[in-house]
Amino acid sequence: MSTPRPTITKRPKIAVVAMQGDFEKHIQMLLRLGAEAYPARTSAEIERADGIVLPGGESTTIGKLLARYGVDEAIKTAAGQGKAIYGTCAGLILLAREIAAGTGQRGGQPTLGLLDIVVARNAFGRQRDSFEAELKIPVLGPEPLHTVFIRAPYIVEAGPEVEILAAYESKGIFVRQGNILGSAFHPELSDDDRTHRLFLSQIAT
Ligand code: GLN
Repeated sequence: MSTPRPTITKRPKIAVVAMQGDFEKHIQMLLRLGAEAYPARTSAEIERADGIVLPGGESTTIGKLLARYGVDEAIKTAAGQGKAIYGTCAGLILLAREIAAGTGQRGGQPTLGLLDIVVARNAFGRQRDSFEAELKIPVLGPEPLHTVFIRAPYIVEAGPEVEILAAYESKGIFVRQGNILGSAFHPELSDDDRTHRLFLSQIAT
């Protein structure tokens, strides 16, 4: 008699863009959740992924390196193929359609334009350079999420296809548009992995 085979669940491959910034912690969290997460620096590494994370860091630096290595085009192609993408903090800025004037758009900082939002950089001001907050985020369940903001942006304008998943002081800080997620906070800096779970649940299998 043959024993039933265990169901083999496919481990999603997640490219965590590793040009600069806070990519290691995303990789660790995604590995803990069972994904095959790896640092990505080339378009080939983006192409073989099922999903992509754009981490926090310095958006001008990351943006320049994305363009230099052609990784920007690879990310846009992946988005067009319906792959799940999640940008946090600087990653959210890079996904935006536009950066609000006067908030660091020196010489037209290029963005990927995958989220129909306008963001303001470093938007919470000096006194709130860095802060933490417990936020109610219905899409993640009833328990509030402990969130960490570091020189964070917020959303000043969002198009009709953008769902605002959470706000802080009436400013949009967590959004979704189809397969693209973006947050102004750093979910990889707390132990709560519900944001990464939401991202993984958006991966087409
Ligand atoms: N202030 C950074 C920027 O504008 C983002 C900060 C972060 O990613 N923690 O690019």
